[in-house]
Amino acid sequence: MERTYIKDLVQKAGETVMIKGWVDVRRDQGKMVFFDFRDVTGYIQGVVLPSRAEVIEIAKTARPESVVAVEGIVNKRPERNVVADKQNGDIELEVTALTILNNAEPLPFEINVDTKEVGEDVRLAHRYLDLRSARMQTNIRMRDAVIHHIRGYLHNEKFIEVETPLLTKSTPEGARDYIVPARLYPGTFYALPQSPQQYKQLLMAAGVERYFQIAKCMRDEDTRGDRQPEFTQMDMEMSFVERDDVMALNEALLIDLVQTLFPDKRIQQIPFPRISYKDAMEKYGSDRPDIRENKEDPNLLAFCWVVDFPFFEATEKSDNPDATGSWTYTHNPFSRPIPEHMDNLMAKKDIGDILTTQYDIVLNGYEIGGGSIRNHTYEALAKVFEILGHDLEKIEENFGHMLSAFKLGTPPHGGIAWGLDRLLMLLLNEPNIREVIAFPKTGEGKDPMMQSPAPVSAKQLDELNIVLKKIEK
Ligand code: ASP
Repeated sequence: MERTYIKDLVQKAGETVMIKGWVDVRRDQGKMVFFDFRDVTGYIQGVVLPSRAEVIEIAKTARPESVVAVEGIVNKRPERNVVADKQNGDIELEVTALTILNNAEPLPFEINVDTKEVGEDVRLAHRYLDLRSARMQTNIRMRDAVIHHIRGYLHNEKFIEVETPLLTKSTPEGARDYIVPARLYPGTFYALPQSPQQYKQLLMAAGVERYFQIAKCMRDEDTRGDRQPEFTQMDMEMSFVERDDVMALNEALLIDLVQTLFPDKRIQQIPFPRISYKDAMEKYGSDRPDIRENKEDPNLLAFCWVVDFPFFEATEKSDNPDATGSWTYTHNPFSRPIPEHMDNLMAKKDIGDILTTQYDIVLNGYEIGGGSIRNHTYEALAKVFEILGHDLEKIEENFGHMLSAFKLGTPPHGGIAWGLDRLLMLLLNEPNIREVIAFPKTGEGKDPMMQSPAPVSAKQLDELNIVLKKIEK
């Protein structure tokens, strides 16, 4: 018999059907057994009548979360048993045959409730089980809907999605890199990308004009509550644009996304207010101000842009071991100053007062994205690195590919990246990004399901020419 999805049962009253899915709940009531069955489309109550002795026997062994194929007759429930406001509340399945496709052992935790209360290590160790719960199903499906919507919108705006490498080169530009030993070239390493920043700029040099990517980014930072070693960006870059073009497109996309997929949410102010870094710091004491007029309202979305950040910031000792200067950049070394401050950059004048074209998009006090217009000429980019204290040789070694591209016809360009996990967390009213990532690491950077990170064999290390230092336990 062909499978019927549970959502379609309501049109099948009186018919014999077959459903496939999970035992959500089993209730033994003396001679009868009741079930709630669940599939990807919903829930239905099943009942095994005392007259079906063979089925009752099997039913009594079907534990919660067992996978079953169920044949039965779709019956209208008697008036007194109708549950209004519940999917299939007016029908039930009179089970005529039950096959257990995979019986479940006693569960490490209940999943037909909100699993938020369950210990995170246990949840993540059995993430596949956790993901079956209704809230987590909603989260992963809404995540898909959001990504699907973004892809459709951007294609409509003539963007193309281009994948960029995961095995790339370590360059000193931000957080610590994850590095991967290159077996074929002993003593050398790939690095996992902290973002596709350089590749997307090179795609502009490649004449792509409008690029985006749902991109994985990896940063080896010290673990802190809500950080993940890998996270997802909606990354984009556009040629021949100014700051307002990028901001307008992203603002329109965010509004369309919210209005289409989250109609219960209210955007506090359209167009999104723009606040200078200076005003944000003076008025809110933060460069990601929470401007909600009512913080109790879970459906209120207060977007704002923060602009006019200082490009450089004085530093006693730069984070970058290769740099000897006393300046570091605040956001992104590839950014361009605002047009009025371009001359000062080139003259290395009033460095601390140079403002960058950086724009951050902030939602309810969280930075959910940021980007800028870039320096697209050799001279300007080299000047930034000079101010940062890199000597010419190091600049060539680290960023030679960018500088070469900038000498071979790179158009003016700019872009942005959204922290997709954070945006989803806010849209789905979740307390942290782990709730919106299918397989996250714990706050300590571990995966209790795969049990990673984990040692590798001596043979693997040998092939990689790696000798481990003695590790204190
Ligand atoms: N690549 C930058 C980041 O990861 C975003 C951008 O400037 O486009 O923060």
